[in-house]
Amino acid sequence: MSVAIIGGGPAGIVSAKSALECGLEPTVFEKGDGVGGLWKPKSGSVWDRMKTNISHHTCLFSDFPWNQSTSDFPTQSEVNAYLESYAEHFKLKPHLQMNTSIRSVEKSNEKWLVMWIHDGQSHSKTFDYVLVCSGIFSKAYIPQIPGSENFGGPILHAKDYKTPEAFRERRVAVVGNAFSGCEITAELAPSAKSVTNIFHRAMWILPRYLPSAKKPEQKLPLDLIFYSRAANARSQGVPAEELNARKSNWFRGLTKQGEKCPELAVETAPSSSQFVVISDAYTEQVEAGKIALKKGSIERMEQGKLIFKDGSALDADAVIFCTGYQTEIPFFSKDILSSLDFDPADQLQPLLLHKTVFHPNLPGIAFIGMYRGPFFGILELQSRWACMALSKKITAPSKQEMENGIQVERQIREARPRPQFPHGDYVNFADDLARQIGALPDWKKFESENPSLHNKLWEGPLTAASYRLTGFGSNPDVALPLIDRINQAAS
Ligand SMILES: Cc1cc2nc3c(=O)[nH]c(=O)nc-3n(C[C@H](O)[C@H](O)[C@H](O)COP(=O)(O)OP(=O)(O)OC[C@H]3O[C@@H](n4cnc5c(N)ncnc54)[C@H](O)[C@@H]3O)c2cc1C
Repeated sequence: MSVAIIGGGPAGIVSAKSALECGLEPTVFEKGDGVGGLWKPKSGSVWDRMKTNISHHTCLFSDFPWNQSTSDFPTQSEVNAYLESYAEHFKLKPHLQMNTSIRSVEKSNEKWLVMWIHDGQSHSKTFDYVLVCSGIFSKAYIPQIPGSENFGGPILHAKDYKTPEAFRERRVAVVGNAFSGCEITAELAPSAKSVTNIFHRAMWILPRYLPSAKKPEQKLPLDLIFYSRAANARSQGVPAEELNARKSNWFRGLTKQGEKCPELAVETAPSSSQFVVISDAYTEQVEAGKIALKKGSIERMEQGKLIFKDGSALDADAVIFCTGYQTEIPFFSKDILSSLDFDPADQLQPLLLHKTVFHPNLPGIAFIGMYRGPFFGILELQSRWACMALSKKITAPSKQEMENGIQVERQIREARPRPQFPHGDYVNFADDLARQIGALPDWKKFESENPSLHNKLWEGPLTAASYRLTGFGSNPDVALPLIDRINQAAS
């Protein structure tokens, strides 16, 4: 059975591998000239010196180890190289069709007619199935600000920022303090004449390494501390407000945020989840006076000037908007998009899908990575679930199950205040997806038969490799060393 995979980023290549594993015949259509998606240097949305914000232990596919020599937090070109070697290792290259842009996907009897452009020519073919892996970061979002045409200097989006050299000795305003905003501001600070970060609300800014709970003098990559099944189990049943309070106390103790610089004090409403940003240098540079902060909204621009709603003004030579992305899915008709509750401006959940993968109105289509914040392990589990269900290795969810699942997503979309990530509970979300495909270890069995392994899986940090121990596609020979590796890194 044939499957068209739209997009050759991390989601697309792991989907091609999952399709082959299930005996499907994949064709990956990628509009760029190589795999990697937004990690691809130059054509991607990441900048030259960007490092991952989670370590390679979590930025990992379950059965493909990183080189032993990789630093804990790989750079964008290292991630791209990892993705290229993944495609090479799993012999995906013959299934990749580059420089090919999908233009439409339409129902044709019980199959899907896919139309694409390659070398200026239009082509089409009918596929049994389609996996949508086109990513949610399609179109840079810059708010419309009156007078921007009079500003005179460069106005760009984070996706077009590549190095600080272009801003040497210039006065730069960076709008937005989420992941890109803080990291770009910190990167500019040493060489710009001045850099001002403009934002609405302060967030917790955590460094990449945090003190280990067992040995506080030892620092570990933050994801090795954040994601463990034991910690998750201990918080089951604790009211959300209590968990929020615990987190904000923990983060306050770690960062001392707001003590030296009141603008960085985080307002923590008990009903709202804690928003976190990862940056090693931002807070230090703020406290050293190398980054100026401005809380507020830009009302208009004049030549070389930003005017704020409170009447204040900031002189600037360049403005970098780190204001996120909108999602574009131009290959589906308006009717299909409306049945998916598509909202291009929703930066968390542009579509409402059962467990982010299936929709009852689109039999034979599945979505991989189409919500905010999927780690590589989630992309892989989504693709394994999709391919196993489409190839009938497991029963696909029923219409009723899908409708119930979509209701859950709708509630997440409608919750106010909104969380930072719609499925921020990585451990439970990943384990739930693994349960759908029979890849979740039987904890009781492991505990009695192999207490040492059980302890690593339960008490240690979550690794995608834990989903290759049992069930279809299991590969303990590769998974066990990876489980040891992450546990050693955390010990
Ligand atoms: C600045 C930034 C930093 C990030 N940092 C991290 C991090 O540190 N760790 C982490 O885990 N995640 C991070 N992410 C999240 C990131 O989205 C994922 O790591 C990952 O790239 C998602 O993979 P994807 O394949 O779903 O999407 P993408 O990487 O966006 O790939 C989608 C691909 O689909 C192609 N495509 C789209 N439409 C079509 C079409 N019509 N026809 C053909 N091809 C098409 C695109 O060209 C692209 O190659 C970051 C995101 C951003 C924006």
